[in-house]
Amino acid sequence: MPSRTYDRVLFWFRDDLRLNDNLALRHALDRARQVHAVFVFDPLRWSKTPRGFDKTGPFRTNFLLETLEDLRQQVARAGGELWLEQGAPQEVLPRLARRWGAQAVFATQAYTQEEEDREMELAALLPLHLYHNSVLLDFDDLPFGDRKTPSTFTDFRLRAEERWSVPELAAPPERLWPAPEPAPGPEALPPRRPVRPHPATAFPFGGGSTQAWLRLEQYFWKSQDLARYKVTRDQMLGPGFSSKFSPWLANGAISPREIYWEVKRFEQQHGANESTYWMVFELLWRDFFKLMALKFGPKLFWPGGIKGKPPRGKWDPEAFERWRLGQTGQPFCDANMRELLLTGFMSNRGRQNAASYLVHELGLPWLAGAQWFESQLIDYDPTSNYGNWTYLAGVGNDPRGERTFNLEGQAQRYDPQGEFQRLWLGAQAPPEP
Ligand SMILES: Cc1cc2nc3c(=O)[nH]c(=O)nc-3n(C[C@H](O)[C@H](O)[C@H](O)COP(=O)(O)OP(=O)(O)OC[C@H]3O[C@@H](n4cnc5c(N)ncnc54)[C@H](O)[C@@H]3O)c2cc1C
Repeated sequence: MPSRTYDRVLFWFRDDLRLNDNLALRHALDRARQVHAVFVFDPLRWSKTPRGFDKTGPFRTNFLLETLEDLRQQVARAGGELWLEQGAPQEVLPRLARRWGAQAVFATQAYTQEEEDREMELAALLPLHLYHNSVLLDFDDLPFGDRKTPSTFTDFRLRAEERWSVPELAAPPERLWPAPEPAPGPEALPPRRPVRPHPATAFPFGGGSTQAWLRLEQYFWKSQDLARYKVTRDQMLGPGFSSKFSPWLANGAISPREIYWEVKRFEQQHGANESTYWMVFELLWRDFFKLMALKFGPKLFWPGGIKGKPPRGKWDPEAFERWRLGQTGQPFCDANMRELLLTGFMSNRGRQNAASYLVHELGLPWLAGAQWFESQLIDYDPTSNYGNWTYLAGVGNDPRGERTFNLEGQAQRYDPQGEFQRLWLGAQAPPEP
C-alpha cells in the first residue's frame, strides 16, 4: 500500500461514472485518508455547437441523469455521498476544496481540447492527478508512447498486438466519505427532458452500471449473442445484433477492461472464435481514436481534419435540414436519420451510410453532420464521433482516402426486405411523457 500523501481529496467524476475498475478513484483511495465524490454539471456541455444544436440533447441528458442516480446509490452504499453541483469545474472544485480542506483533485484524463483546457485551469489552482481510465490498453506502456501512435488503425493494431497488455481490473472502493456539509437539493440540477425514445429503439435500456451489467449478462451469457457478433454486427433492427455497450462506455458506467475480461471468461467457457476476437477489435478502435486525439489535438475538429486538407462542402441550410430530419428522399439514409431523431441511437452501418451521404452525395460540410450527431447520440464520445466522421469524410485516418457508400446497394444488402426502412420511415415521435 503506497503511503498516504493527503489527508483529504476530491474525486472528480467525469466520464468514468462507476465504482468498479475505476483506476483514478483507486489511486485517490490509496493516496488519501478521506475521499469525497463530486460530479459537476459543466454548462459548457449544455451550451450550443457552432451550428446551433444543443451540445447535449435530451436523450443523452436523461441517460446521464439515470446514470448519476445509479452512481449516487452505489456511492451511498459505500458510506459516501455523491456531491452534484452545476458550474464550471475549475471554479466549483477549488471552492469545495477550500471549504472542505481538500488538498488535491483526482480524476480521469480527457482527450479533447475543451476538456484539457478545463484540466489546465484547474491544475493551476490545486494539485490535479489524472489517469488514463477509460481505455482498454495501458496507455502508459504502449510500444510507441501515447503521442506517437501509427496513424492508420491496422499499423496501430499490429503494433499493439505485438506487446499486448490489458491491465487487471482496479479494485472497488472499500469505503467512501460523506460530504462535510449538506448537498444541494435536486432543484439545483438540470431537469429531466420531456422526451422518450420511440418504442422500437434498438437501445431500450437505461443509464448506469447496473443496467450496463444486466445488458452484458444478457448479450454474453444468457443469449450468447457474443458468439455470433461478427456475423450479426452489421444488422440494424432490434437490440440483439450488436452489444449496445457504447452509451455506457461513453460515460464510463462500464469500462472497456471490464468488457475485455468478461470476453476472456466467455472464451474460457465457450471457446474463442472470430466473434469474440472482433469484440476486442472494436474496442481497440475506440482506443485508437483517443490516441489520435492525443496525437493530433484540435485538428480532429478542424474542417480539414488531421490531414489538414482544404475544407470541402458547401453550406446549404435547407439540404442540411432535410438530411437531419430524414427527409432527403433517399429512403435508406432517411430511415437511419429518423431512427437517430426519434431514439438517439443508430447502428454503425447506418452511421456510415448517413455520413457518407451527407459528405459525398449532398456535398455538405462534414462538421455540420458531426455536430448533429454530437447533439443527438446517446453514446456520443468526442473522439469516436469526430474520429469516425473525419475518416469517412476523407480527412482522417483512412489510408484509402475517400470512402463513398452506394446507399441503394447497401440497402439491398443490409435491409433486403425493406423492414428497417418501413419501420423508421413510417415512425412518429411518441407523445411527451
Ligand atoms: C459517423 C460515425 C459516428 C460515430 N460516433 C460514435 C460516437 O459518438 N460514440 C461511439 O461510441 N461510437 C461512435 N461510432 C462508432 C460505432 O458506430 C458505435 O460505437 C457503435 O455503433 C455502437 O454500437 P454497439 O455498442 O452495439 O457497438 P458494437 O458493434 O457492439 O461494438 C462494441 C464497442 O466497440 C466500440 N466501437 C465499435 N465500432 C467502433 C468505431 N467505429 N469507432 C469507435 N469505437 C467503436 C464501441 O465502444 C462499441 O460499444 C460512430 C461511427 C460512425 C460511422
